[in-house]
Amino acid sequence: MMKILSFNNKEEIKAFFRQKVKELHPDKGGCIEKYLILQNWYKQALEQFRNENKIKISKISDRYVGYGNSFYKTQKFTIKELALGLEKELTLPLKENPCPYCEGSGINKHSLKKTCSYCHGEGILKLVSGNEEVIHNCTFCAGVGYINIERCSHCFGKGKIKEEIPLKIKLPFGLRQGDILCISGETMGVCWNFYIEVEVEPHPFWRLEGDNLICEVKVPFYEILLRDTLEVETLEGIERVPTGYFADGEPVVFTGRGPFLSDESRLRRGDLIVNLKTLFPKTLSLEAETLLYNFKNLIERERLC
Ligand SMILES: [Zn+2]
Ligand SMILES: [Zn+2]
Repeated sequence: MMKILSFNNKEEIKAFFRQKVKELHPDKGGCIEKYLILQNWYKQALEQFRNENKIKISKISDRYVGYGNSFYKTQKFTIKELALGLEKELTLPLKENPCPYCEGSGINKHSLKKTCSYCHGEGILKLVSGNEEVIHNCTFCAGVGYINIERCSHCFGKGKIKEEIPLKIKLPFGLRQGDILCISGETMGVCWNFYIEVEVEPHPFWRLEGDNLICEVKVPFYEILLRDTLEVETLEGIERVPTGYFADGEPVVFTGRGPFLSDESRLRRGDLIVNLKTLFPKTLSLEAETLLYNFKNLIERERLC
């Protein structure tokens, strides 16, 4: 009877592999062919989960950044990306390849050489065991008798170079300037974590303030009286607001139309608060001033204000 295995996550695959390895390992009398098939299957099975949007992303509230093997960078985000938790393409070192300049050795082969102090430049080591003398290659200099004194400058002697690869991530809600986003490397098959510091790209008339998005609408003073509506750019696009809404000088609040907040389970949103900023000329021509006086007198006569 054929049994079809199905796995919901990497942990289930790992558990199955560990159990099977015990049965099939050649050291424990298992069949080598079956063991190699299992090894191959394991690699492929993990691969299928690698890119399946199971990337673990979290916001770090304190400024703790992990020690050791980690990658850190500052990344610019638009206010819209942060407010709506949109997808963002980041370029991250997600792969490690052997350094092509030193072929993975970490050594600059063209640098000055120093005689190997282990074999005194002979490249061989003699070991005496009983009456016999055993000769083998010096392990310290790999049998060449010298050591290059400089490390490879391309990989800083590591022998490996990280390759930057674009990766799309869904931004968590509630990110603000200076927050640090932690992307777990484990979920992407690398042994280092990524720490991304959020830098908010300045916007000409939007700014994030606490739970809300503040929008400033700049309008020349006469347009306020002449236009029926004003254009307001919301997170969902441009909307028209009756100019009269601003008549009392208070901001117009679009309740629940601001940024999504970090409380994802209830999908709460902050408000969009629209402030009207009136623009007026620094100087007036005599003609314009006279007309304005006439206008003022008319308004006062009609008791409109
Ligand atoms: Zn190198
Ligand atoms: Zn040597």
